[in-house]
Amino acid sequence: THFGFETVPETEKAKKVYKVFENVAQKYDTMNDAMSLGVHRLWKDVLLHVMHPQPGAQLLDVAGGTGDISFRFLDYVRSQQERQKRRAARSVQTPSWRDVSSNYSSEDEVSRQESRAVVCDINKEMLRVGKQKADSMGVSAGLSWVAGDAEELPFDDDRFDIYTIAFGIRNVTHIDQALQEALRVLKPGGRFMCLEFSKVTNPVLSRLYDAYSFNMIPVLGEVIAGDWKSYQYLVESIRKFPDQEEFKDMIEDAGFYCVKYYNLTGGVVALHSGFKL
Ligand code: SAM
Repeated sequence: THFGFETVPETEKAKKVYKVFENVAQKYDTMNDAMSLGVHRLWKDVLLHVMHPQPGAQLLDVAGGTGDISFRFLDYVRSQQERQKRRAARSVQTPSWRDVSSNYSSEDEVSRQESRAVVCDINKEMLRVGKQKADSMGVSAGLSWVAGDAEELPFDDDRFDIYTIAFGIRNVTHIDQALQEALRVLKPGGRFMCLEFSKVTNPVLSRLYDAYSFNMIPVLGEVIAGDWKSYQYLVESIRKFPDQEEFKDMIEDAGFYCVKYYNLTGGVVALHSGFKL
């Protein structure tokens, strides 16, 4: 191909990926909005909606980049917490049958352990930009930023309730190794969730999407980030990633249960989910 990714050795791939994200880090959020016409926000919102995390849940967001998933996660658990507090306050005023019968107390309902999100990414520049963003938005509480490789996570076994990887796994050299690591760091009962570009199922949409991505994305990359090649890599890496069913099989092979996926925007993106039992 033009960018020659097929011919580069595996460790070379990792180096190129590092360079790509180092180059685009500063412009990464702007590019995401421009290229997806803002739709990446909806995909990430869907991920949180399906995840439906409860207060106390511990998240590991691998290839977390500038922190989008983790910000949404903390926002979501806080709104859940508020809802639970309001419900608890109401039930103290007017105890219902359920409250009386279950010895229900507001303290029990609102979890005592604080939710935390760990953003883990191999690229220090992406983490730096994300941390800066969190500080300037005043949302740093509950967040940690850790440099680490998805293939060799710097965390103990059985530590997290949820593992997410959004638009990251196609950049990883050994996907099976990354899946093994996801399984290892999750608690039993924990959930693996992955957002990734996938195969468009509708033939008309597929043609439009190909035309858009091959012709427009590198151009946008050049105009906004002054970086044609990085965005050409992006398009190529999407083409090479396994389709919905193949990726589902890989997740099952890694040892996850109840593996399923949802197509978003006609399969432009797929959301895969599986559990560690
Ligand atoms: N999850 C974020 C989001 O959805 O906006 C960022 C996604 S960005 C397209 C992909 C990220 O994967 C980059 O920040 C890159 O540094 C990271 N990455 C690539 N290879 C990795 C690896 N082996 N381990 C951890 N992160 C990796």
